[in-house]
Parts: sequence; structure tokens; C-alpha cells
Amino acid sequence: MSRRFLSPLEGMCVAGLAGLLGTLAGLLVGGPVGALAGGIVAGVHGAIAGWRGVYDWRHPRGWFALVADSTWGLVGTALGTLLIVANIAMPSANLESELTCRRNRHLHNGGFSIRRGFAFTLGSAISNADPNGYGLNDEFLSRHEELHVWQNRIFGPLFQLTYVLWALAGVVVAALVWLRHRDVPLRKLIETACYYNNPFEYWAYRNDGNWPPRGAHPLLAWSGPESDRTGAQL
Ligand SMILES: [Zn+2]
Repeated sequence: MSRRFLSPLEGMCVAGLAGLLGTLAGLLVGGPVGALAGGIVAGVHGAIAGWRGVYDWRHPRGWFALVADSTWGLVGTALGTLLIVANIAMPSANLESELTCRRNRHLHNGGFSIRRGFAFTLGSAISNADPNGYGLNDEFLSRHEELHVWQNRIFGPLFQLTYVLWALAGVVVAALVWLRHRDVPLRKLIETACYYNNPFEYWAYRNDGNWPPRGAHPLLAWSGPESDRTGAQL
């Protein structure tokens, strides 16, 4: 049967299953209000993911992805669903069906990003996947951006919490270093401390064989062996 007929069916089934998981997870954390919120977020994301054929049912990790996206990773899923909805409304965002179907991720070529020239990942959704117009680099996308998708599934809300706390601490560290190195642009130090040195980013850049990245300032970038290959600067 073609995907044209299977997609709505899969969308409904995944929405139901994800919605149930989200309701239970939300109930545990936030009572009836949590159950409602969790059920809606997981159900809406599940409907879109099912329709797009995102999950790879032939492998355990596809099932793990569904369960994690609908429970422990729900904060990321809520953010990712907002990104998906924004991208559906943006004419520049094309869903790359071949790189999405059974790949446990939503891959948008173009679409929303918080920074020019950078891909952007929230929850299970990758946006602006070809930021420089050089064509999609699936190796980079799988090694860096998709790793963020799995980091959210494994670390759940601790993933988002780390980004927030790391950014706050990073501003302080960057400001203290800048006081002793006034010739260095403060913006570069903040970007290195807050973003590049974030353990989840460091992990992703290293996983892509791209450490230290070109944008990271050597005064603050984590030391360690340089990668032998220059990966995408994202
Ligand atoms: Zn990253």
C-alpha cells in the first residue's frame, strides 16, 4: 500500500499511542493539568510524526524514540512541535521526506533558525538544515544535529536545563575573562563560553570531527586534540 493511504492511518495510530504515553507522563508530573498538556503535546507531535513516517518501527531505537519523545523528552518535543508548526507555515522550509522517513527525525531544508548560517534543532525537529546553500550534508546532520535529537531523548528536561544554566554561567565566565583581555571581542568570548563549550555542543562538534570549531575563541574553547577533519561550521 502506498504512503498516501498509509500516512493518515499511521498518523492516527501514532497520535493515539503518543497521546496516551504523554497523558500518563503528564499525570505523573503535573496531575490532571499535566496530563492534559502532556497528552496534547505528545498527541499533536505523534500525529505529525506518524503522518510523515518519522519513526523506524523495524528497529528498537525507533520505538525508543517514540516513547522518549512522548514522555521523558516532552519538553523538547513541545519546543520541537512549535518549530515544526512554524516551519509548516514558512514557505522557505521544505520537509526532506527521504531524510525524514524512518530516520527518527524531522528534517527541514530551510525554515526557522535562531542564527544565520546555522542549522537549528529542537526536540525531534531539525530546521535550516542547509544554512549556507551548499546542499544537504547528511553526514554532518546525522553526526551533529541528529545527536541533539537523541541527547534530548536520553537526557530529557536536563538537556534544556543545561543549556539555560550553562548560558547564564557562560556570560559570567566570559565577562571575567574579558576583564583581563580587553582586546578580545566580548561577544566572541560569550559565544564560546555559552554555546561552543556547552557539553552537549562540545559532544556534537567532536562527534562530527570538528573541534575546535572556527567560531570558538581559543582563549576559552575546551582544549584537547584537534579533529583531523574540518566538519561543517554549524
Ligand atoms: Zn549543536
